[in-house]
Amino acid sequence: MSKLGVGKEIVTYCSKCKLELAHIIVAMRDEVTPYKVQCKTCKSTHAFKIKKAATATRKKSTTRKPRVSAEQKIMNLWDEAKSKQTEDAAPYSIRTKFEIGQFIDHPKFGEGVVDKHIDNNKIEVVFQKDIRVLIHNK
Ligand SMILES: [Zn+2]
Repeated sequence: MSKLGVGKEIVTYCSKCKLELAHIIVAMRDEVTPYKVQCKTCKSTHAFKIKKAATATRKKSTTRKPRVSAEQKIMNLWDEAKSKQTEDAAPYSIRTKFEIGQFIDHPKFGEGVVDKHIDNNKIEVVFQKDIRVLIHNK
């Protein structure tokens, strides 16, 4: 690849033409990154968009960062459930049938609250930092 520099040509996205087009570099940000480019087609000068734009668009739907992390969400769920707790946690056993909203005490994961019945024998339990599926009512 030839070295980039002022006056050199580079193919980049033109926000006016809405196309990947040849541009002339008019200013450099650093040795390898153009700062301002002029579109050879529409002659407009605009800031050089770092190539990431293309990958960012492609990934947008899958990697859009949630403002709250998954762990934070679970912790919020947990805090909310905990604030409504009325009874002591029942020791967890696969033989016991647990109801939604019931607190359980799991030997390994600690205290959790039943969030959902998945089916007759499975419950989804919110623990302090994790959501797990447990067997019950066996
Ligand atoms: Zn253009």
